[in-house]
Amino acid sequence: MNISFHGAAGTVTGTKHLLTLDDGRKILLDCGLFQGLGSQTANLNQSFGFEPAEIGAVLLSHAHIDHSGLLPKLVADGFNGPIFCTAPTRELSSILLMDSAQIQNQTHEGPDDQCIYTPEDVVKTIQQIKTIEFDEWFEPMPDVKVVFTRTGHLSGAAAISLDLPAAHGRTTLAFSGDVGRHSHPLWQQATAFPQADYLVLESTYGDRDHDLRSSNVDILASYIQHTCNEKKGKLIIPAFSVGRTQEILYLLHQLEAENRLPELQYFVDSPLGIAATHVLASQLEEFKENLQQSIGSGSDPFQFKGLKYVESTEDSIRLKEYQEPCVIIASSGTADAGRVRHHIRETLGDPKNTILFSGYCGPQTLGGRLLSDDRIVSIAGEDIAVKAEIHQLLGLSAHGDSNDLCQFIACQDPSLVRGIFIVHGERNARERLAARLKAKNFYPVTLPEMHECITLNRHVQTDQLSLAPAS
Ligand SMILES: [Zn+2]
Repeated sequence: MNISFHGAAGTVTGTKHLLTLDDGRKILLDCGLFQGLGSQTANLNQSFGFEPAEIGAVLLSHAHIDHSGLLPKLVADGFNGPIFCTAPTRELSSILLMDSAQIQNQTHEGPDDQCIYTPEDVVKTIQQIKTIEFDEWFEPMPDVKVVFTRTGHLSGAAAISLDLPAAHGRTTLAFSGDVGRHSHPLWQQATAFPQADYLVLESTYGDRDHDLRSSNVDILASYIQHTCNEKKGKLIIPAFSVGRTQEILYLLHQLEAENRLPELQYFVDSPLGIAATHVLASQLEEFKENLQQSIGSGSDPFQFKGLKYVESTEDSIRLKEYQEPCVIIASSGTADAGRVRHHIRETLGDPKNTILFSGYCGPQTLGGRLLSDDRIVSIAGEDIAVKAEIHQLLGLSAHGDSNDLCQFIACQDPSLVRGIFIVHGERNARERLAARLKAKNFYPVTLPEMHECITLNRHVQTDQLSLAPAS
């Protein structure tokens, strides 16, 4: 049996991990799109490094496009098997993938073959999805047992545990998907998952701890006060449409409940963000219990005074001319695409404005360049001097920090783990997390390279087995 890594191996996007069983059957864990890698991005999204038609089943951890975004290409290139995920993930994937196809069609004004896939491919992909329940074992193919458990990262987001037939008995492997932060205000927390021989663990923030000295709601309030009330400027918040946007709306809802919300216009300028807010608001079981109760009694966690949704392109363009102090939440999180680029271009040259990043930005993205103190940036071919304030609110990330990742795998006995693979992180994050895991007696820890294939061999010597503690 082996596992090969065809994305998120040295980067944080493009997650695709391929399991090949001893009898030749293949299972793909996630099928994500590469994003924000400059000129390499298009090439990376063109070839998988494996044959889609040979895959028997796909297991999808969650809906974010860096985990799901190449599924329609997989289908278009010959994969015709089932895709298993939770019901909330299916709903969110439907809107995310259709949005992705539409963006490609708008970006490429030439013939369709310049797009990675079409809306028709997305429709076919969604038809191949089969939904499963959290915490219930099922068989995606004969003699392969799988269970999805919560990771607290997004509505429907799961870690995937597999119990697989092998030449010498059975081999177990757990894939973390993306791990949420312990303090996330919306989603139910991560739960324990079955003991595994092998672990595939994300490491986005494996090298840092989120600063939780102040609450996010207080920090957000202080940025609004400083930018809109004191400087009379615009506060631009680039935010991923699915998950992050709703968390920010919830914080603003909380400020209103505490009579601390400044009287301003608050714009959500993202059609996908608007659609996702409606879908997420209907996925009641995914919320923390206290929120389920308040929603059940009629409260809308994403609603507050002054909130305006901007749907049409014309209204988005008009918003650039709005000169009053205001807050604009727009996609995407890394500022590399979407409507937020236009708002940043309009506001970057004036010190009264603030750009507040709400999560992870890869070093090659516009967000990454602004956060690394570049004083001149190029947007759509135009060089713009950076005069606005640039900040980042890392506590809002949907990804757990180093402590959260260690907490996530605390359910695993290191002496029973035969190998741990660190994925979905930049080099420093992977190395720092690896060092921390080794100190916790997880061994061996591997940082797989792109397309690297590693043999998994559960069979161990009898004397090694005798050293394992009784469970
Ligand atoms: Zn994610």
